[in-house]
Amino acid sequence: MISERIIGRYEGEERGPLLICFGAMHGNEPAGKKALELMFKMLEVEPITNEHFSYKGKLVGMVGNIQAFAQKKRYLRKDLNRQFKEDQIEQLLLRDESELQDEDLELVQIIRAVRKEIELYKPEKLYILDLHTTSSVDGIFCITTEDKESIDIAVGLHAPVIKGFLKGIQGTTLHYFKEENMGVPTVAMTFESGQHDEPLSVNRAIAAITNCMRIIGSVRDSDVENRHNQLLIEFCKNLPKVAELIERHDITEADQFKMRPHFQNFQRLKAGQEIADDINGPVAVDKDCLLLMPLYQKQGEEGFFLIKEVSE
Ligand SMILES: [Zn+2]
Repeated sequence: MISERIIGRYEGEERGPLLICFGAMHGNEPAGKKALELMFKMLEVEPITNEHFSYKGKLVGMVGNIQAFAQKKRYLRKDLNRQFKEDQIEQLLLRDESELQDEDLELVQIIRAVRKEIELYKPEKLYILDLHTTSSVDGIFCITTEDKESIDIAVGLHAPVIKGFLKGIQGTTLHYFKEENMGVPTVAMTFESGQHDEPLSVNRAIAAITNCMRIIGSVRDSDVENRHNQLLIEFCKNLPKVAELIERHDITEADQFKMRPHFQNFQRLKAGQEIADDINGPVAVDKDCLLLMPLYQKQGEEGFFLIKEVSE
């Protein structure tokens, strides 16, 4: 059954890993959802145009925040991608869905939907690819867990890999989708494919899904159409291969935080450089670093992130 939550399912003739991709975990990020819709269309025609095509495993596409997506908002009441906390989820799962609303309802429905897919397919391995976009331009990168396989896959996606993101921040999909909670070995990655409404963000998300399917062994190299991939390689050639989070600038509404204009992802910053303003005056960085995800939208709990390049 295809519900509003499920964008599509594609099951190969051979058994293999279950790959679940999320689009629109933030409602104002339509690119991942669009990429998944196109991916299922491409998978449907692939065996017709390529008789040697085979798929090992199963791909499932899911919408994250359905209600926020309908309103083109990041979220309604709270950021869904900060709610994936074990305790909270356990409590919510005990309650009747009719009592729940907004992000609480989305959260339990997602957990139930993922569990159902695992129950249906009984995979030996689960991969989660959470597709996002940023409010600022040129934000093309992959966020990993500390798991080596998560980092290896991320490197193979041909975009900068940002490590150390899970420290400090809480309740993202990367925190929750792991073996202890899923009952099956699980590897999770988040891919940021560019600015929210830029058409190429859709192409880059398609490239990330395709690369991911290739790396986990679901499709062969020769079967993968790499027009989109070239785009990613070209775009990321001057960006750091691996970087690490060094600082997160948390904000609340009371801070009246406002990023100064024209800052970009991966922009080099100098110690002392002023990049934003809030109720206390200018906000400066205290060390040489690179900027990530400067906030250029109303909703958000972080004003910006600072990273440094690491050799890996
Ligand atoms: Zn997002």
